[in-house]
Amino acid sequence: MLFTFQLKTPAQGLINITPEIREAIKESGVLEGICVVFCPHTTAAITINENADPDVKSDFIKGMDKFFPDLNEFQHCEGNSDAHIKSSAVGVSETIIITGGNLLLGTWQDIYFCEFDGPRNRKFYVKIM
Ligand code: ZN
Repeated sequence: MLFTFQLKTPAQGLINITPEIREAIKESGVLEGICVVFCPHTTAAITINENADPDVKSDFIKGMDKFFPDLNEFQHCEGNSDAHIKSSAVGVSETIIITGGNLLLGTWQDIYFCEFDGPRNRKFYVKIM
């Protein structure tokens, strides 16, 4: 089954999308399988990271800005090449095992939509097999 979700994003940030994905799995009725989360954007991404300390999310964005800065020599007319690079570096999808009707995630793991060039109206897809 394919699910489509919409979200409004901040300028930059990680948005926890795990609750929506858990709901989709419940609705699909799949107990044992695979879940693919895909982001159809070139300046956003999908990642799995810590769900305990909220500082991890803000440090993640600070780290991305440090490692992938907006350089003067970039020529892309939209002026958001740093966000395009961040999107490719993080990746636009994650594949997660489903077992017992639940996501097989570590205790401290959740799934995040990463915005690098917001605020925008975004979407992501969840395919459950
Ligand atoms: Zn661009």
